Amino acid sequence: MDFDALLGNDALKQRLSVSLSRGQLSHCYLLSGPSGSGKHTLAKLLAAAMQCTSVRRPCGQCAQCRKALSGMHPDVITVDDPEKKTVPVKLVRDACADLYIRPNEGAKKVYLFPRAQDLNAQGQNALLKCIEEPPAYGVFLLLTEHAEQLLPTIRSRCVELRLSPLRDELLHKELSARFPDAQPDALRSAMLRSGGYLGQAVDLLNEGSELLPQTKAFSEAYCAGSAGALLRVLAPMERLKREQLRPILLQWAELLSSAAASRSGPPPIGAECSKITQSHTDAQLLRAVEAVQHAISLTDANVGTAHICGMLCVKLSEN
Ligand SMILES: [Zn+2]
Repeated sequence: MDFDALLGNDALKQRLSVSLSRGQLSHCYLLSGPSGSGKHTLAKLLAAAMQCTSVRRPCGQCAQCRKALSGMHPDVITVDDPEKKTVPVKLVRDACADLYIRPNEGAKKVYLFPRAQDLNAQGQNALLKCIEEPPAYGVFLLLTEHAEQLLPTIRSRCVELRLSPLRDELLHKELSARFPDAQPDALRSAMLRSGGYLGQAVDLLNEGSELLPQTKAFSEAYCAGSAGALLRVLAPMERLKREQLRPILLQWAELLSSAAASRSGPPPIGAECSKITQSHTDAQLLRAVEAVQHAISLTDANVGTAHICGMLCVKLSEN
């Protein structure tokens, strides 16, 4: 089995297999990468490898592996409360106290932090104390989408395992196997939007790659080059909250970017995209992408949606 269940990331898997065969494992790993990049899969495999009783670890077959892979191992402990916005400090302190009780049945006691970036300063300081000098059987697996949000003192004690996006070919093969009935356009769109991360592409295909009603309306108005039509699309959106506006704008940016990219690369995805390509020049498309991306960045800042939509209407109409 080794680390095969994690797709791609060959160099990282090779590195881990070598460390395992030489018995040179670290007691603290930082698994970093965006959502859907394979952090949880890798954490399961690592936890199994730590407990596995076979020669080639993880074997996936022995009782220790099976328990670790199914999340049932008593010495693989998840430190989190998904109901809470930040990981409660108490849970970190409890884990640190528990660390000094020897493993039940495994070779190691593995503490898994599924969202280390959501530890506040107090939580991180509590964690720091227990990763400084753990007993020989203590292992910490910290998962994070934002490694930079962890204290440098924590990062310096971890071996960082950074997950990479998958090659197009590999991602396409995997998605085609998982979604045999998906349209080629839908697969390609999910691949582009996911940035190469399998988990994100799977989510997109599960959600369906349907365009949002606002995106369809935007596409028609933009192709018609009508300022009035754009205003009719954008005005009702002024009432949305920033977190509702953002996914719509992300889809617009994706549509415009694929239209721009289709001139020199792959053919446009979907009818809307090809109409946009035909009705606008490269320069116009690039300006539109910039305007939408600027609007998306404003949804992260403290700017009202009315202002964002107003600005976007002016910029897209000028274009
Ligand atoms: Zn095993």
